[in-house]
Amino acid sequence: MALIVMKFGGSSVADSEKIKHVAGKIIAKKKGGNKIVVVVSAPGDMTDDLITMSEKITSEPNPREMDLLLSTGEQVSISLLAMAIQSMGHGAVALTGPQAGIFTDSEHLKARVEKIIPKKIFSFLDKGNIVIVAGFQGLNPNNDIATLGRGGSDLTAVALAAQMEANICEIYTDVEGVFTTDPRVVKDATKIDTISYEEMLEMAGSGAQVMQARSIEVAKKYGIEIHVRSTFSEKEGTYIVSEEKIGRKKMEALMVSAVTFDKNQVKFSLIDLPDIPGMAAKIFGSLAKLGINVDMIIQSAALDKKNDISFTVSKADLKRTQMKIDQLAKELKAQSVVCDEHVAKVSVVGVGMKSHAGVASKMFEILAKNDINIEMISTSEIKVSCVIDEVDLNKALAELHKGFKLNKK
Ligand code: ADP
Ligand code: ASP
Ligand code: MG
Repeated sequence: MALIVMKFGGSSVADSEKIKHVAGKIIAKKKGGNKIVVVVSAPGDMTDDLITMSEKITSEPNPREMDLLLSTGEQVSISLLAMAIQSMGHGAVALTGPQAGIFTDSEHLKARVEKIIPKKIFSFLDKGNIVIVAGFQGLNPNNDIATLGRGGSDLTAVALAAQMEANICEIYTDVEGVFTTDPRVVKDATKIDTISYEEMLEMAGSGAQVMQARSIEVAKKYGIEIHVRSTFSEKEGTYIVSEEKIGRKKMEALMVSAVTFDKNQVKFSLIDLPDIPGMAAKIFGSLAKLGINVDMIIQSAALDKKNDISFTVSKADLKRTQMKIDQLAKELKAQSVVCDEHVAKVSVVGVGMKSHAGVASKMFEILAKNDINIEMISTSEIKVSCVIDEVDLNKALAELHKGFKLNKK
């Protein structure tokens, strides 16, 4: 008997009809002779709506209460889904993260899963039940509810699959798998049959929201095979597996496997900083102390013993960064601070880059040919990213996708 973890995202349980549809899918899988653990996200946009509600009360909510609020969305889904399965004549039990034995560290809003004790889950499974676990949450060392960061239900599913030694972790969503770029933005995007953990990790980290990045780290560490597929069709989706499983040759056949984008960035520039040792350490040390993640950094060549430093952070950190940087600019005697909210990051990702030279230059050429200015560049072994003006994003995506031959054949 196989143990299968099935995770359903928010759009899959957005209303009662969809919840009933999902219940039917779960029951069918159980009837196939499997033990089933289900993980669900909050219905539709409920998490966003809860955030909006809190913003109407205060701009600085206490993280403990924020987590308590955010965790309620998933509780709505697990209860309704359990009721749907029960009303179809099958045993089902809904468990919150804490009830399921998921324990986290003490970092609110982006807690890490520290351990899972699935005793209760196993005992309900042994009695023949379908067990439904709330995604995105666990219990922290203070016995408070903590959430796992946006998209965190993917992490719940993968971590449970690892701890319970499931045969496979299926991620059901509103698209048919992982595509060469967001299929909602580029109509010619192609579904990828298999992709390596490394590539998926870079894709997720550079904006492809179809899988949460941390869930892929865990999957890679424990060798959990993931199948990303559609809730609304029976078609095979995308398997996320190790490089060894795919085979080097097959992966290297392509220069680039996917193009991703991130509109959630904002660029800060400190203009005319004195060119003396310790400036970067002071700026980025101060931001790190506030828990602000800096993505890209660029420093201009020194001119008259002065230079500019620019960097990007996520839009969610805009206000906090602005406050700190204004203060630092005075302290460090920079001439001014410029904040640009209208930027976007576009990236090309692929293991093939390790063996094909010239991917970066080809990317720059494609952007240049389309009159798109590059503001910042960063690279990793299997990724090249450029920050560009937001207005050029859709064109950049379409042209890079075509230029690297990823369009539907
Ligand atoms: P869920 O609610 O099921 O967790 P998400 O909204 O988190 O779903 O992720 C699915 C969405 O990810 C898709 O609707 C799609 O628009 C977006 N997406 C972005 N990049 C990609 C990609 N490369 N492949 C597939 N989907 C992508
Ligand atoms: N509901 C949470 C979110 O919207 C977690 C998830 O969907 O994975 O981020
Ligand atoms: Mg998601």
